[in-house]
Amino acid sequence: MTAVDGVRVDPVAMWQAWRHEFEWHLDQVPLLLETMREHVVLVRSTRYDQVKITGGGYVDNMPSAVGSPADRDSNLLWAMLVVFTKSATEWINAEVLPPAAPIYPVLAQDRRTWLEDRVVVDPDGRTAGARADVTTKWLIAHAERIYPIEALDTYREGLFRTIRRYRAIYSAAGTVRRDRPITCRVCGQAGVLSDWITGADGRGTQIGRCKHCGEQYLPGE
Ligand SMILES: [Zn+2]
Repeated sequence: MTAVDGVRVDPVAMWQAWRHEFEWHLDQVPLLLETMREHVVLVRSTRYDQVKITGGGYVDNMPSAVGSPADRDSNLLWAMLVVFTKSATEWINAEVLPPAAPIYPVLAQDRRTWLEDRVVVDPDGRTAGARADVTTKWLIAHAERIYPIEALDTYREGLFRTIRRYRAIYSAAGTVRRDRPITCRVCGQAGVLSDWITGADGRGTQIGRCKHCGEQYLPGE
């Protein structure tokens, strides 16, 4: 047991809570990013058709979806994921001594995203989602090594806050959950699934909602 601010905390429970928050947020990214990129393509094609129908000159007048909110948002999310992954990799590899080979995610093999100081998301939304999928899986597989790196805490919280914000905006992405639903104390069915919201302090707060009867469970319940 460790004392934190005078409160005794079980370190195993702390690690499990951290891991759950880490997995839940990163699990949202691939589908969320894919949905955001599809939105960019959708905006582009819809405008294209409208302009085309009204007459000539559509090529000159065709508005680019680059710079649209969905384009900007998805680029920011992608960039934050890459920066977090790069930082985590540097910290992890600081403890990997020769002759052991340094550990890198697949993302590091793509110079466009890893070495250049700019954001690259493939125009194909599915490709962006697939790349995010590989990257978030790598991070989750290295969760135990990332957990002790306190220097990443603030950035990680910012990344997770961004994920929660975009989930609210691009709600069509739905929610990815790896946990089994737990039993609802109101209706008795195994239907309570967890979600994360941003609390008053700006931090992630876990809540639950029963998919059968709609009962909501607030933090700590
Ligand atoms: Zn219920």
